[in-house]
Amino acid sequence: MKAADLIKTMDCRHFIDGKYVASGNQKTFVNVNPATEEILGTVAEGGKEEIDLAVAAARKALRGPWKKMTQHERISIIRRIGDIILERKDELARLESLDTGKPYWLSGTVDIPRSAYNFHFFADYLRSIGTEAYQHDDVAINYAVRRPVGVVGLINPWNLPLLLLTWKLAPCLAAGNTAVIKPAELTPMTATLLGEICKEAGVPDGVVNIVHGFGPDSAGSALTEHPDVDAISFTGETTTGKIIMKAAAQSLKRLSYELGGKNPNIIFADSDLDEVLETTLKSSFINQGEVCLCGSRIYVQRPVYEAFVEKFTAKAKELTVGHPFDPNTKVGALISEEHYSRVSSYIQLAKAEGGTVVTGGKRPEGLEKGFYLEPTIITGLDRSCRVVREEIFGPVVTVLPFDTEEEVVEQANDTHYGLSATVWTNDLRRAHRVAGQIEAGIVWVNTWFLRDLRTPFGGMKQSGIGREGGMHSFEFYSELTNICIKL
Ligand code: NAD
Repeated sequence: MKAADLIKTMDCRHFIDGKYVASGNQKTFVNVNPATEEILGTVAEGGKEEIDLAVAAARKALRGPWKKMTQHERISIIRRIGDIILERKDELARLESLDTGKPYWLSGTVDIPRSAYNFHFFADYLRSIGTEAYQHDDVAINYAVRRPVGVVGLINPWNLPLLLLTWKLAPCLAAGNTAVIKPAELTPMTATLLGEICKEAGVPDGVVNIVHGFGPDSAGSALTEHPDVDAISFTGETTTGKIIMKAAAQSLKRLSYELGGKNPNIIFADSDLDEVLETTLKSSFINQGEVCLCGSRIYVQRPVYEAFVEKFTAKAKELTVGHPFDPNTKVGALISEEHYSRVSSYIQLAKAEGGTVVTGGKRPEGLEKGFYLEPTIITGLDRSCRVVREEIFGPVVTVLPFDTEEEVVEQANDTHYGLSATVWTNDLRRAHRVAGQIEAGIVWVNTWFLRDLRTPFGGMKQSGIGREGGMHSFEFYSELTNICIKL
């Protein structure tokens, strides 16, 4: 059966060894549309049995036609995956928005094209990769050869389902590995379709396997505990990362972690306020604020603080919250009822902590079904408050005033997270000075979310381990053997 048929019924199965299969025990769970609260379909619930089958298929495929392919053949297949994603862009964007509640225009202009680009980028990058060689006088010559790590487990979150999955899968395949993917349980659909796309592109059976299910005591933990999995690339919550690290320690798996963030957005009084407002609106509320890179801690220098809060509030009020398939929608639905309750609980907490909800904080009128929340701006809190310190992962930001550069750098770094930051200033020296002091994997100056895929991406402190992007991804997905030849 083709995935397209499964998708018509909205039922998702595992993709193991090139075939769509149900769970051995026929177990399924329901997939809920966050925009309507209706049931979209069922999802096969995998566990140890399905992970065992997928890992065995991936191990076998490492020795099959995938290994014998020339680099040129592998590049052509990986590029073709990107081409098919573009050919099926509308269908994939529709599934992504049904699953996540995000606006359809956003899926169609960012999530899906970027997913295709991940394959095009890493396929092209593969051509430029070399290794080291050293001559030791007339004694010996050393050179390194690059080979796959082996079977890699890819575990993904629900906020950018296909984009983040392909950000891992493309370099994983380019480096010659095989993969077992565990998509987020809340967003199984585009991952399901990707199995069929890989097969159509010419990926041999067993090279890409997809097992649906939950995290703890389910497919997720079975994958991280599996003794025949060589590496795990995980994107998700910091707390989950800590659990996975313990499980992976049993067989000393290589780990790549992209974890949570509580990112500072620092606005100096000399910056261009119109530009700041436009971008800060995006960095606060795009994708319902469900982006790890969102700048949810906004610090504004005192002389422009009042003006910023007033104008930012007016702009936030103009954002249309609505159904993902309404073209006017700027902010869609949050991912689930549970997440909606969690995000809402922070708004109650903000009030209890003495904060002022300047705008938002409630369900928009007329949207009684679905997990919709108005863009929310909170002032009047200080750095000790949980709302300022903890990752909320929704359309909720705090705005705090500051006086000096030293003070704001100190406040920005006063967190166990270190994923990203934004600095707004027209003073070149200050831009360099501040950017160099912020403890984060990426610091944007006068912009946000601008990415060159060759550059290192990842978090400091408890926001991650390792870097992805360009050569950094290849380093994670490859093993090096040094060959020393006596002359
Ligand atoms: P999550 O940690 O709850 O789940 C992520 C994945 O891990 C899911 O597939 C889940 O089933 C699986 N999982 C959960 N428990 C597991 C376990 N014990 N063993 C194995 N697998 C397990 O995260 P989420 O709620 O899906 O995603 C939101 C989080 O992801 C936020 O913290 C966000 O900041 C982070 N995130 C980070 C980045 C980044 O690049 N740094 C990008 C996107 C999201």
